[in-house]
Amino acid sequence: MTILRIALDVPLPQLYDYREPPSAKARPVEIGCRVLVPFGRRRLVGVVVETARESEIPAERLRSAYGVLSDTPPLPGHWLALARFAAAYYQRPLGEVIHAALPPRLRRPEPLKAEAEAWAITDAGQALLASLPSRRTHRRALLEHLATSSPATPNDLPLATDAARAALRALVAEGAIAACDLMPITSAPQERVPLTDAQQAAFDAVVASRDRFQAFLLHGVTGSGKTEVYLRLASEAVRSGRQVLILVPEINLTPQLEATFRAVFPAQTLVTLTSAAADNIRALNWIAAMTGRARVVLGTRLAVFTPLPELGLVVVDEEQDASFKQQEGLRYSARDLAVYRAHAAGCPVVLGTATPSLETWWNAQSGRYRLLSMPERARAGAVLPAVRLIDTRAEPPSKDGLSDTIVRAIEACLARGEQALVFLNRRGYAPVLACNACGWAAGCVRCAAHLVVHLGERRLRCHHCGHVEGIPRVCPTCGNVDLMPFGRGTQKLEATLIERFPGARVLRVDSDSTRAKGRFNEMTEAIRSGRADILVGTQMLAKGHDFPGVTLVVVLNTDAGLVSSDYRGPERLFQQLEQVAGRAGRADRPGEVLVQTRFPRHPLYQALIEHDYPRFAAAALEERQVAGFPPFVHEAVLRAESETLEHANAFLRTAIRSAPPRPEGMHLYDPVPMTLARLAGRERAQVLVQSSSRSVLQSFLQQWATALHAINARDVRWHIDVDPLEF
Ligand code: ADP
Ligand code: ZN
Ligand code: ZN
Repeated sequence: MTILRIALDVPLPQLYDYREPPSAKARPVEIGCRVLVPFGRRRLVGVVVETARESEIPAERLRSAYGVLSDTPPLPGHWLALARFAAAYYQRPLGEVIHAALPPRLRRPEPLKAEAEAWAITDAGQALLASLPSRRTHRRALLEHLATSSPATPNDLPLATDAARAALRALVAEGAIAACDLMPITSAPQERVPLTDAQQAAFDAVVASRDRFQAFLLHGVTGSGKTEVYLRLASEAVRSGRQVLILVPEINLTPQLEATFRAVFPAQTLVTLTSAAADNIRALNWIAAMTGRARVVLGTRLAVFTPLPELGLVVVDEEQDASFKQQEGLRYSARDLAVYRAHAAGCPVVLGTATPSLETWWNAQSGRYRLLSMPERARAGAVLPAVRLIDTRAEPPSKDGLSDTIVRAIEACLARGEQALVFLNRRGYAPVLACNACGWAAGCVRCAAHLVVHLGERRLRCHHCGHVEGIPRVCPTCGNVDLMPFGRGTQKLEATLIERFPGARVLRVDSDSTRAKGRFNEMTEAIRSGRADILVGTQMLAKGHDFPGVTLVVVLNTDAGLVSSDYRGPERLFQQLEQVAGRAGRADRPGEVLVQTRFPRHPLYQALIEHDYPRFAAAALEERQVAGFPPFVHEAVLRAESETLEHANAFLRTAIRSAPPRPEGMHLYDPVPMTLARLAGRERAQVLVQSSSRSVLQSFLQQWATALHAINARDVRWHIDVDPLEF
């Protein structure tokens, strides 16, 4: 008897045994098949990951699978291996990982609809059209339409009758017509420019290792032409019969990259995968990649799970972006899994950015990754913007927060008919207590971290080690009594700017103002076409956009990032500032960046003036090494959520007691509340684990997870987060 061992989406780390379905007599069930099975009183979709001769379940209790869901081919072995790797690395049950990695539509049993956003003619279709007898009127009409304009939406095609729709189905079945994404409205296809020397060198280096695994860090300043390098590499890989995976932080935020790729690759070979796509279409695109029809997959973090049997190149753009880390459920890093995929496929992976994560930079410094540098802007004459620091202690800003220099610079920019971008960093930095007069900030006596203000209980807490102290009344270094947490919002700033610059059109772009569907694209279009004078925004405006009219960037209130309670604060701040500075002067006019700060001598700002990432990184890495933070140690946290902090803490204390013996070089810290301690009505606390060795940490976590599953954790939800980004 053959037993199917099936991964189901249930929170226990085990497979479930079933007998084969009745249909297996005619056709054996293959590994990788999606199957429908009874589970308790429910019917669940599962994936066959192993078969066995016998089961430990007594024969009379073994149930039969209902049947195989045959609208998809079996999931390939390389994909199951990826799921196994992610399950082991991130300490999650395989069933949960498999279901998180499948497009949502394939987690449900109803058969897929053979629909498409749009249809396009294939080479086979072109050939067929040439030899089609004239009496096949419907087929001819469809093919002729698509031969002149592919892709076309179903509405555009002559599909009024049943016979016409039958003809479409037949042509799809014959491979004469293929489904594809609807091409978004793009700017006209660009002429391919000759590569700069730096681009050419980067291209050559990656092509030279196209048949083996090698991770590359493509460190190119903003405007150095990374997109062009990705594009040439992708074309080269497709030409040599390989598939390409390109991950971007958010497609919305990188419309130019998508447009550039769309202009080069035919619609039927390029598919996009994001959570915004309709479920059925997303599943069809995923299958197009799995079956090899799609050659280029462009997507957000979830696309890292796309099965690609002929993968030959992986690209991760803006590799440092926090959105590559999933913050719930399966807490994976798409950037790290992308490197794993390239390794498994034996192909190169290119991590591109102007401001690498310190982990990646360290990998490049230590020789694990190869560094490719593009230190200059690609367009002839384009230079990086000049950065100027405005010392608010020498030039105190007026009540509304703007210094004179900034007001005058904005006025001059408007007078020239150019655009100004005012950037406010509102990312959830925890409130840190700081002194306005001398720059002192409350730090932990036990860690190299800043303490977080908990106003409710009037205490300062360290979110790494749990140390607690009272809020001091005066600054311990200078005696100033005006100690306060940092903060200010975009809406207030918008109002200020409208008041200060009455004639100017002020446009605020942040997660609130862009919530409605399509709003973000409307806004960026308004900016590009010059229908706004002053843009106010958060990090949303900082990324990848090309706004040719922006020549002035003003940066306000970023000092909190210097003294963040999170050791990644300065890294994020530098990345953000370099990104937003990169928005200035992208076209022919030079750009200027003004940063208003209390700490102009801070090494981070000094490196920013020079656009000197390596200098910033060297200093930051040294601090991390001294303080014992990643990349010099590896981290994981065990988090617990409950209605009361007491329950969460009690669970964590039990968890610590049931932890396996700590190997040398491993630290297990005390439970601490999370920075955002109360979320959606639940209290959250965590325990940090650090180890100097990744493999030691991995085997510790594996044993610990087994012990944790055995704890009776009523009222508490828990999970392990490996390589956590948030604390
Ligand atoms: P990055 O992604 O590195 O910030 P982009 O890829 O957006 O930079 O390129 C910046 C600008 O430089 C774009 O307008 C692009 O068309 C232009 N560009 C890229 N490569 C070249 C080249 N080889 N010669 C001239 N212009 C180029
Ligand atoms: Zn002070
Ligand atoms: Zn501490």
